[in-house]
Amino acid sequence: MEIRPQPSFDNTEIAFGSKSNAELKRAYWLFKLIGNPALVVAGRVFTNIALALRIPIGWALRGNIFKQFCGGENIGQCRNAVDSLGKFNIGTILDYSVEGKESEADLENTKAEIMLTVQEAARNQAIPFSVFKVTGIARFSLLEKVNAAQSLSEMEKLEWERVQARVDAICAHAAKYDVPIFIDAEDSWIQDAIDALANDMMAKYNTERAIVYNTIQLYRHDRLQFLKQSHDLASNGNFFLGVKLVRGAYMEKERARAAEMGYADPIQPSKEASDRDFDLAVTYCVENIDRISVCAGTHNEKSSLHLARVIDERKLARNDKRIFFAQLYGMSDHISYNLANAGYNVAKYLPYGPIREVIPYLIRRAQENTSVKGQTGRELSLIQKEMQRRRLK
Ligand SMILES: Cc1cc2nc3c(=O)[nH]c(=O)nc-3n(C[C@H](O)[C@H](O)[C@H](O)COP(=O)(O)OP(=O)(O)OC[C@H]3O[C@@H](n4cnc5c(N)ncnc54)[C@H](O)[C@@H]3O)c2cc1C
Repeated sequence: MEIRPQPSFDNTEIAFGSKSNAELKRAYWLFKLIGNPALVVAGRVFTNIALALRIPIGWALRGNIFKQFCGGENIGQCRNAVDSLGKFNIGTILDYSVEGKESEADLENTKAEIMLTVQEAARNQAIPFSVFKVTGIARFSLLEKVNAAQSLSEMEKLEWERVQARVDAICAHAAKYDVPIFIDAEDSWIQDAIDALANDMMAKYNTERAIVYNTIQLYRHDRLQFLKQSHDLASNGNFFLGVKLVRGAYMEKERARAAEMGYADPIQPSKEASDRDFDLAVTYCVENIDRISVCAGTHNEKSSLHLARVIDERKLARNDKRIFFAQLYGMSDHISYNLANAGYNVAKYLPYGPIREVIPYLIRRAQENTSVKGQTGRELSLIQKEMQRRRLK
C-alpha cells in the first residue's frame, strides 16, 4: 500500500519556492510595516481621506500592498499570478473585489465581470472555481428587507426579481461552462436571503455534481446544524451539496450589532468553539462525500492538517475533485504550497479590480495582519526563516 507521509508546514523552501529574493524581501518589509498597528491606523486614515478627496493614491499602493495581495486591475493582469501559482499546482480563484456599489448599472457591471471570470476559468485549467458575493449584485438594504421578510414596494419587488435573475444568470453560466462557483457568506442579517438563493441554485444546477457552493461560517453557533440541514435538503431534493467552510470574517461587527440592538449574539462563545465546529464540519463533509463537495477556506494550520488527515484516513485520493483547501493570495503560502506539494487540491483567492475600488479589501488585509493574534507574526517569522536559509540576512 502507498505510504503517504503527513504534510508539514515547516518547509519554507517549498513555501516560498515561487518567490525571488527581491520578492521575498518586499514581502518581509511589507509584513514588518503592517505589523505596526499605529502605522496601519495612520495609513487607513490617510487612504480614506485621499479616497474621499479623490486624490490619486494608486501609485503609492501599486508596487507593494496591492502587488502582495492582488492579481491586478483586470483579468488580463492576473494571468501572471495565475500561471505562477499553476506551476506549483495551485489553482486560482479570480475574486472581483469591488465592494459597496448600489446603482443598477454598477450591479449589472459586476454581474458581467463575474461571468467573465467564469469564462476565464473555463479556458484555463489552473482556475478551478469562480466566486461572487451577493452584495456585489444586490443593494444591501434590499437584502436586509428580504432577509427580515418585510413587505416590499412594487419597485422593490421588481428590483428583487432582477437580483434573482442576476444570480441565476451567473450560476447558469457556471453550469454551462462546467465551472464550480462559490457564493461567499456575509453578515448574518442578510445571510438567510443569501442561503435561500444558494439553495435554489444548488437544487437547479447541482443535479450531476456540485457546481454551486454555498459558504458556511462556523463562527456562528448555529451553522453546524445548518450544514446538516443543508445536507438533508440536498438528499431529499436529490441534488449535490457544495459547501465552502470558513470561520467567518465579520465577528466584531456581528457582536457589536447584536449588543447594540439587543438580540442574542450569533457568534460562538469562544475561539475554541469556532475551531471545534469548523473541524467537525470538515469531518462531516468528508464522511458524506458522496453527496457533499467541500472547500476548506482557512489559514489555520490545525484545521488544514485535520482535513488532510481525514482525507488520508478515509483513503480518498488527495486530489479528489470534491475536496479543496483554499487560502488568500499573499497569505499563508506555507500552507498552500506545502499542501499542493503533498498532492492535495489547493486554490488561492486572487482579488483584483481597479486599485481605488479594492482599497477597502486591502485595508481589511492590513488590519487582519496587524492584530497580535493575527497572522503577521507567523508570516514574518516564516519569511525570516527562509531569508536566513537563503543567506539574505
Ligand atoms: C478562501 C477563503 C474564502 C473565504 N470566504 C469567506 C466568506 O465567504 N465569508 C466569510 O465570512 N469569510 C470568508 N473567509 C474569511 C475567513 O472567514 C477568515 O479567513 C477566517 O475568519 C480566518 O480564520 P481561519 O480559519 O484562517 O483561522 P484562525 O485565524 O485560526 O481563526 C480566526 C477566526 O476565528 C474566529 N474567532 C476568533 N476569535 C473568536 C472568538 N473569541 N470567538 C469565536 N470565534 C472567534 C473568527 O472567525 C476569526 O476570524 C474566507 C477565507 C478564505 C481563506
